[in-house]
Amino acid sequence: MEIKVIKNIMQKYQDLAQVNRSLLDSYNIFSINIMSSPGAGKTTLLEETISLLSGDVKIAVIEGDLMTSRDAERIGKKGVPVVQINTQGGCHLDSSMIDSALKQFNLADLDIVIIENVGNLICPSTYDLGEHEKIVVISVPEGDDKPGKYPVMFQEADLCILNKVDLLPYSNFNVDNFLQDVKKLNPDLEIIKTSAVTGEGMDYWGQWLKNKIKK
Ligand code: MG
Ligand code: ZN
Repeated sequence: MEIKVIKNIMQKYQDLAQVNRSLLDSYNIFSINIMSSPGAGKTTLLEETISLLSGDVKIAVIEGDLMTSRDAERIGKKGVPVVQINTQGGCHLDSSMIDSALKQFNLADLDIVIIENVGNLICPSTYDLGEHEKIVVISVPEGDDKPGKYPVMFQEADLCILNKVDLLPYSNFNVDNFLQDVKKLNPDLEIIKTSAVTGEGMDYWGQWLKNKIKK
């Protein structure tokens, strides 16, 4: 029966996600899964985050991409270990890819593993990778209508980053409407406003991450 087959595959991914999480826990590593549309500024945000935390926090990055390794090359230049996963056109990462990627790191030497998912606001939200928290990044140029269009992403997220807020004066993005729509879907979801260009919110975001590190 086809339905049973699909169930078994999803169960396999779910089990492996738990294995990944247990592995990370055994090394006291905190892990986040960052999701967004293409072009929301995930990689730039990550570059700035690494600069902000380097010295205090040992970070590794898993970069998901459809085809290229450009983002991984950018992150590699920041001097942190990075593993590229090319999904060969696949629109999300899954726990078996993360299982393979984690084996490439010296886990004993890490505090945080950051996973940059494939740019897509739909199916990544439904795949548990074994991360501890899911973060959705929305950027101002995309418009304030994303919560209504992609409700599952906001329901699943543990944190929302509203990025590129330096562009608010030049856009019709209505922050109040956005916050209200998010609250309707996920009343407890914290929202951090950031700009990698002006630095707004970056210290707060860095501190948010540091507070999650298990010492
Ligand atoms: Mg990127
Ligand atoms: Zn997908």
